[in-house]
Amino acid sequence: MRVGIAFDYHRLVEGRKLILGGVEIPFGKGLAGHSDGDVLTHAVCDAVLGAAGLGDLGQHFPDTDPRWKDASSVVLLGRVVEMVVARDLQVAQVDTVLVAQEPKLAPYFEAMRAALARALGVEPARVNVKAKTTEGLEAIGRGEAMAAHAVALLEPR
Ligand code: MG
Repeated sequence: MRVGIAFDYHRLVEGRKLILGGVEIPFGKGLAGHSDGDVLTHAVCDAVLGAAGLGDLGQHFPDTDPRWKDASSVVLLGRVVEMVVARDLQVAQVDTVLVAQEPKLAPYFEAMRAALARALGVEPARVNVKAKTTEGLEAIGRGEAMAAHAVALLEPR
């Protein structure tokens, strides 16, 4: 078994779609980023890469590369999983925590789980999504940013 952890943080800005865990969520702002800014999927990518000893997302999909401009992060996650499979590993379990003040995210958890599980090539039961606020404190509490944490467990194929 191999385990990986990850943390990611993105600024919330006007004029962007909010994409979390591969799901578009109706909201007045979206996450800044070279790709679609999907902070949750980025954390999952980094946790999986970490478990496989494959570095991090920025190393494989640099934000200086125009190919990844506005890229769907779940597509990048699919590529990460291909790298892992090439090393004779597969995803056993992924757990995540989104940190966001607004909007209410619980109604989207199942859709995020399904989208992440599809990209990871596992059943939704092996993926967990949950969320916390910061009780209105600091940049996340003021609606200026969102963060995500993830842990991934890989097993031999
Ligand atoms: Mg990121």
